Amino acid sequence: MPVVRVLVTSPVEKAYDYLVPDRMVLGIGDYVTVPLGSRSITGVVWDIPETSDVPSAKLKAVLERHDLPPMPDVSRHFIDWVANYNMAARGAVLKMAVSVQDALTPPTPLTGYIGGDALPEGLDEGQQKIVDVLADGLPRRAAELQKVTGVSPARLKTMVKNNLLRAVDIFAKAPCAYPDPDKMAVGLTHEQKISADVIDSRIGSGGYETFLLDGVTGSGKTEVYFESIATTLRKGKQVLILMPEIALTTSFIGRFAARFGCTPALWHSSLTPAQRRLTWRSIASGDTKVVVGARSGLFLPYADLGLIVVDEEHDQSFKQEEVTIYNARDMAVVRAHLGKIPVILVSATPSLETLQNAWDGRYKHLCLPDRYGGAEKPDIQIVDLLKDKPARQHFLAPTLLDAMGKTLDQKQQVMLFLNRRGFAPLTLCRTCGHRIECPKCTAWLVEHRAQTRLQCHHCGFSMKVPEKCPTCDDTGSLVACGPGVERIAEEVAEYFPAARTLILASDITDTHDKLLSAMDSIRQGDVDVIIGTQIIAKGHHFPKITCVGIVDADLGLSGGDLRAGERSFQLLHQVAGRAGREQLKGHVYLQTYNANQRIMQMLAADNRDGFMAIEAEERTRANMPPASRLAALIITGKNEGQAKECAMTIGRAAPRDTAVRVLGPAPAQMYRLRGQYRQRILIQAARNVDIQKMIATWMTSIKIPSSIRVTIDIDPISFL
Ligand code: ADP
Ligand code: ZN
Repeated sequence: MPVVRVLVTSPVEKAYDYLVPDRMVLGIGDYVTVPLGSRSITGVVWDIPETSDVPSAKLKAVLERHDLPPMPDVSRHFIDWVANYNMAARGAVLKMAVSVQDALTPPTPLTGYIGGDALPEGLDEGQQKIVDVLADGLPRRAAELQKVTGVSPARLKTMVKNNLLRAVDIFAKAPCAYPDPDKMAVGLTHEQKISADVIDSRIGSGGYETFLLDGVTGSGKTEVYFESIATTLRKGKQVLILMPEIALTTSFIGRFAARFGCTPALWHSSLTPAQRRLTWRSIASGDTKVVVGARSGLFLPYADLGLIVVDEEHDQSFKQEEVTIYNARDMAVVRAHLGKIPVILVSATPSLETLQNAWDGRYKHLCLPDRYGGAEKPDIQIVDLLKDKPARQHFLAPTLLDAMGKTLDQKQQVMLFLNRRGFAPLTLCRTCGHRIECPKCTAWLVEHRAQTRLQCHHCGFSMKVPEKCPTCDDTGSLVACGPGVERIAEEVAEYFPAARTLILASDITDTHDKLLSAMDSIRQGDVDVIIGTQIIAKGHHFPKITCVGIVDADLGLSGGDLRAGERSFQLLHQVAGRAGREQLKGHVYLQTYNANQRIMQMLAADNRDGFMAIEAEERTRANMPPASRLAALIITGKNEGQAKECAMTIGRAAPRDTAVRVLGPAPAQMYRLRGQYRQRILIQAARNVDIQKMIATWMTSIKIPSSIRVTIDIDPISFL
């Protein structure tokens, strides 16, 4: 009997052999259900070997073949590549690609109604309305008919019985099946057109290339890549747009719809199972043309992908930190390479890694230095908190308050940025100095005053704000230290009692609808002061915001992370870019205790390239990425001693190689997380070292106890 090698959607490394039963024909890439242990599981035919090493008496048979286009070769190669590079189990990566419940079985149709065979005579008013609505021959669902005519579904069934109507199956339509590349093209400016033409010619000639589309906020980067999408669509190919935090793209979706005449297919975690199934299948069949997705959109089984766009390429959220660790931005480049298609990385503040690739000529650098329509860039002013002091227990300096007052007088909007949710990041006992910490994590509990609770932002633990200090039992001694957005809102209300304020933070605008209505109220001018965390930094266009205050520009700089400076610059620059996007000039106030620090000076001077050049130099001197490669091993366990001992064992077995430096083991900065103790080892290697192979060899020499988990993080971004 013939044998197939099937990779199953479970965290295994190897593909297993199965017998092909009589009358079943299987090819590479076919989706199948196979037995695994005592259960059955989905898999994909990865290979068809001549013979199996396993005696056929021991082999089990494939249970079922699913009627779907086979997984394309490039998708399989991509899964292999991602697994190898990130040292993840191949089956776990496959699982990300076939994660859709029920995607493999065809969707069940919905019931619709069309006109029946009986002559429509002697009808009452409602029945007549139904017949009129259905006169165009298109089926309608019961709910829709009821909405238009007021006739109940029960009465429809009676009409079916009397042959006045016929019930038919209707299938949900593939999303974004017919985008129109010419629906509403804008005339590009000379500079935009140069960039668009360069990408166009690559799309025309075919083949892989990475572009860095680098332009200030408002320069028309989106318009440029819309042109590239149009060109790809004219060739009949599919497009993937990767974006961070997909929920925030409502204004983007509207813009896309205006440009292409239909909304794009969406791919993110809050789709319903039915939407996921429909979208997955329509992408596999090639019917769906454009997908806007969070990072997992990369693993969809595109029938004929022709272009990938990674918007806000510098964004950290492209790195998945859980289960299978990978960087979607980097894997997008790999996917493009394997598929021989172009990829466009888009940003106003590209990551140093990407810039270095552009400087070295590996990526083609396309620049848009000016805002569209001559809109001026905002003025950025440093507010030195050592001299320009806020009132006691307050956080807004006189200069910023003054600017806010003037802005509000002119009926324009103010945006205050503070990347910290809740009311206060620390609760401290004035009597004994005790700081309230999470019982499971190395972290302070954050006060959320509206709920009168203290919360851990790492594990979700929460408790009521205690009345007494848990250590010294003193009452009324606990004080809130430092600001979160809720506390800033309180302060704004105190200084500007007439101003209408709105807080934008992931725990407050926690649903899509809440976020939508918040955005609407800003756009319609129902809000005067917007106070937000990083969710306000991205892509939104609010023309009436002319004053932006950065409450604590120093916040992102602590912690000793190698990218702290770069990341702070990106975030603050992006926030500053929210000010004055049209005719009205914007003003940005940067509150800091380090007014002379390079990053503040460079931000104020709008000198991004200068800042990044110095960053690059310092990284090279410290032999840090992109000048070198990094990998991290995170050793975790419930038992503190055991975790430490295992980390020491791994450390002692480290390879001795001059091109490699092993730092640690050392207790992680986040020493406890969700009750687990954590040790870290950092591996620094020359760029030409095969770091994966080195780690694999190293790890095979060690026996890891079953109570300890060792996580490998290639190209780490988080050092907690
Ligand atoms: P970016 O993506 O670089 O932030 P956008 O593409 O969002 O810039 O452009 C900023 C604003 O300018 C948008 O409202 C956009 O519609 C408008 N715009 C940019 N280029 C053009 C153009 N060539 N014609 C008309 N409007 C444009
Ligand atoms: Zn916690």
